[in-house]
Amino acid sequence: MPATHHLLLCPSSAPIPLSLLGSEMSAAVGSFTALVPQPATRRRVAWATRCSVAGSVAAASPILKNLHLKCATPLPVLRHIADAMAADMRAGLAADGASDLKMILSYVDSLPTGNEKGLFYALDLGGTNFRVLRVQLGGKDNRVVDTEFEQVSIPQELMHGSTEELFDFIASGFARFVAKEGEKFRLPQGRKREIGFTFSFPVKQTSIDSGILIKWTKGFAVSGTAGKDVVACLNEALKRQGMDMRVSALVNDAVGTLAGARYWDDDVMVAVILGTGTNACYIEHMDAIPKLQDLTTGSGKTIINTEWGAFSTGLPLTEFDKDMDKESINPGEQIFEKTISGMYLGEIVRRVLLKMAEVSALFGDYVPDKLSVPFVLRTPDLCAMHQDDSEDLEAVDLILNDTVGVTRSSPDARKIVAEVCDTIVKRGGRLAGAGIVGILQKMEQDSKGLIFGKRTVVAMDGGLYEHYPQYRKYLKEAVTELLGSEASKNVIIEHTKDGSGIGAALLAAINSKYSTEV
Ligand code: ADP
Ligand code: MG
Repeated sequence: MPATHHLLLCPSSAPIPLSLLGSEMSAAVGSFTALVPQPATRRRVAWATRCSVAGSVAAASPILKNLHLKCATPLPVLRHIADAMAADMRAGLAADGASDLKMILSYVDSLPTGNEKGLFYALDLGGTNFRVLRVQLGGKDNRVVDTEFEQVSIPQELMHGSTEELFDFIASGFARFVAKEGEKFRLPQGRKREIGFTFSFPVKQTSIDSGILIKWTKGFAVSGTAGKDVVACLNEALKRQGMDMRVSALVNDAVGTLAGARYWDDDVMVAVILGTGTNACYIEHMDAIPKLQDLTTGSGKTIINTEWGAFSTGLPLTEFDKDMDKESINPGEQIFEKTISGMYLGEIVRRVLLKMAEVSALFGDYVPDKLSVPFVLRTPDLCAMHQDDSEDLEAVDLILNDTVGVTRSSPDARKIVAEVCDTIVKRGGRLAGAGIVGILQKMEQDSKGLIFGKRTVVAMDGGLYEHYPQYRKYLKEAVTELLGSEASKNVIIEHTKDGSGIGAALLAAINSKYSTEV
């Protein structure tokens, strides 16, 4: 190809370093490849691609600018969200169906004291993982004597299969776990193994050890479970495995986290999950629950599971969120969850990048096929890109290559990608922070000084909060902005790793049919 083509394509050119002329170039150039079959001409193609990419960066800017604008969460927006969360909580406590927030009674009205003793199990079905845990509780002085834990990811096909298939998978995993029990763990003769079952989907709890699945969320579409008692489903599957056990507590993951954290710290009042999905619960006074006026508890308190993933009031949403929601298996539902939780952040970013690639040729003159595959970009990928502080964002380049098939990106394109990640993650973290303040605000209004006037702990669990430092930072910044530096000193946001597992086992102990206290 004559050199004039080179000049035509890239008039203000400088010599391209040889190191950039790798064989991957030919794959990257889309419509130019046909022109350059010989290695000698690759340079021109590569050069042309570079020019095209450089041109595209400017064209992506309006999309990025608009994204910034639509995702902005300045203090007045955060305040509005926190106030709306508090108001929706009250509405949900007043009457069933009166609010996005279901405000579900957990039937947990006594919290761990530290005196619990014995061997208990937890079985946790989250959105991504299934976990099993055993814990030998040693009472006040010895606390957690020993604990063992295993985790497996849930096969994709089971998320769309039948109830029996899913519960058989859980029960058989549990049976294998029990079969490997070492000598450190002791079950007194004549006792059944007792389980706390953490089930992290919306359940209408009917007692401490039963509850009806309202609907699947987080991409699950298992047939035949909605409307059924999930404990009965588990019991039947355990029986099919030949196991004689007792599920003594059905526990939402947020409730389990609160119970687990409270075992160590009496100031824990709220628990929040930020993992595949999101949820929050808190300690409520029975007399502040108009819809449950007929019910009393010994302590006068209970844990309310807010199911805040369904919150939707006043959220700053973009066309990308709306399209994702429309195409989801639960359109119109779980809008807060779809804006702030781990299952969705990567997907929102993918949609933004796809539009940029289509409209502005962000990655050259072609759109990588993989970029059109829903959920191919995952939140851990965003997190890895977000950690890249190298000048040319080389890790971003690598991850784009690995995950969405971008064979080559310019440093400017990578910067745009990093900004998109930051914008979506910042919005998610700040909105989660505003939600937490909404709950605290509601509790403070009812207790006059008992929340902000003393140390109050919010227990956090979930892979997103645990592994994503920027998300954590944005969340905490929003809490501090909303509360002011004085009040926010009293609010401690604490990660309690695997708190929900231990919490479920503790709730199994509290609700054991045998005596478990010293
Ligand atoms: P589950 O929701 O199944 O109970 P986790 O609480 O462990 O499971 O959360 C898993 C979710 O956490 C993943 O779906 C993902 O969104 C998020 N996550 C896991 N690892 C990371 C990471 N390194 N960076 C950011 N998010 C992560
Ligand atoms: Mg979980």
